[in-house]
Amino acid sequence: EKKVLDASSKDLTPSYDWFQTDSLITIVIYTKQKGMNAELVILDCEDKRLRGEIIVDDYSYLLEVDLDHAVQEDMAVNIAEKVGKVEIILKKKDNVHWKILGQPLENHNTFMKRTDRGLFYRKCKLVSKAEVTHDTKLFCLQLPESTHLRVPTGQHVYLKQIIAGTEVVKPYTPVLPFLLLDFKEPSCHDSAHIYLMIKIYPCGLFTQALDHLQIGDYVSVSNPEGSFKKSQVQTSEDLFLLAAGTGFTPMVKLLNFALTEVSCLRTVKLIFFNRTEDDILWRNQLQQLALKDERFEVQFILSQPVRDWVGKQGMISSSLLSEFVKRSRKDSKVLICICGPTPFTEQGVQYLKDLGYSQEEVHPFTA
Ligand code: FAD
Ligand code: NAD
Repeated sequence: EKKVLDASSKDLTPSYDWFQTDSLITIVIYTKQKGMNAELVILDCEDKRLRGEIIVDDYSYLLEVDLDHAVQEDMAVNIAEKVGKVEIILKKKDNVHWKILGQPLENHNTFMKRTDRGLFYRKCKLVSKAEVTHDTKLFCLQLPESTHLRVPTGQHVYLKQIIAGTEVVKPYTPVLPFLLLDFKEPSCHDSAHIYLMIKIYPCGLFTQALDHLQIGDYVSVSNPEGSFKKSQVQTSEDLFLLAAGTGFTPMVKLLNFALTEVSCLRTVKLIFFNRTEDDILWRNQLQQLALKDERFEVQFILSQPVRDWVGKQGMISSSLLSEFVKRSRKDSKVLICICGPTPFTEQGVQYLKDLGYSQEEVHPFTA
């Protein structure tokens, strides 16, 4: 049974077909939309259970079957971006003829609002853990070989652990292994790993459990979520990033994307709020980036400075924002992204509104 929300969307419902050779099973999904890309295709195959989700704007198409026979772990995904065709190639474990692709599972061949599709989790292996500051660590998680998943810029995932017999779920925003990606080193670009920069709180329920994981242990990771659209940056001339504490995490991929792929940007400014100097995440890398790319500037603002801090002090305020957030030209197109503790984000949004910035010019990152 197909869950099509209304008749007008019917002819846009994706469909699929499949065929086989002696050694391969090929599934072709006709998404019926242009501009398909790897971020819109999420695949998981565990044992004989295949789950393929295709994101089409605010909708999700799902292929979910219990395969007729076993397949090998490595699979290939080919995406024909312009025609919107997604090809999944599975390797048969045994050279037998399949009578059917598989038994349909509950939500097989459905097309529904993304928000109505429950989150799907797969177990990822903790492969490394490195210190970033006194309380923040960079966790590297490895996706299973039979998973195809890319977390888009500005989106987060949910991590799930069983803590004292209860399932606990918290959102985290994937980052890159370093800020300055050296394109000569392909290992940094591999899509098999998810990097998370996480602050461990002394009484934090989830982060304490996470910190106690051993290398080789598993943690469940969900599909990506979030409302940020890359197109918001693609048309901007000035980009301002207001980050507080770990609210820096969405800015990592955003900075990388802006500086490597958006040619119309003239200025990119990060205003980074922290308690003390020791809390500043990737300070050295940020300063290196500012030296390397003249469009980029970073400003650190401390709320509880110690020692001989000569830089800016204080919390987010209207006067501070009017000093640091300025259009480079009178009518330049601006985007201001803001992320941090809820009161920080809420105050920031209000101050920017009072300063005359429109809703379209301000993107707050929230859950
Ligand atoms: P909790 O047990 O919830 O408590 C955290 C600390 O705050 C403890 O010290 C506790 O005593 C204190 N505390 C709890 N509630 C209150 C309260 N109401 N008032 C005052 N103090 C309180 N975090 C990251 O480190 N990295 C990320 O990339 C990241 N991305 C996120 C993305 C999104 C969309 C959102 C919404 C949050 C993100 N977070 C991120 C925060 C993360 O989801 C958790 O909230 C955080 O890790 C704390 O979880 P915890 O269970 O360890 O802490
Ligand atoms: P923190 O407590 O160390 O504070 C960092 C800075 O935030 C402070 O120096 C101050 O300038 C500002 N700040 C803190 N409390 C404030 C308040 N009440 N009003 C105004 N400004 C305030 O920060 P942290 O422990 O690193 O926490 C980071 C927060 O960011 C967490 O609450 C986390 O949930 C949130 N976060 C959200 C997302 C998201 O929504 N996408 C992503 C990452 C982190």
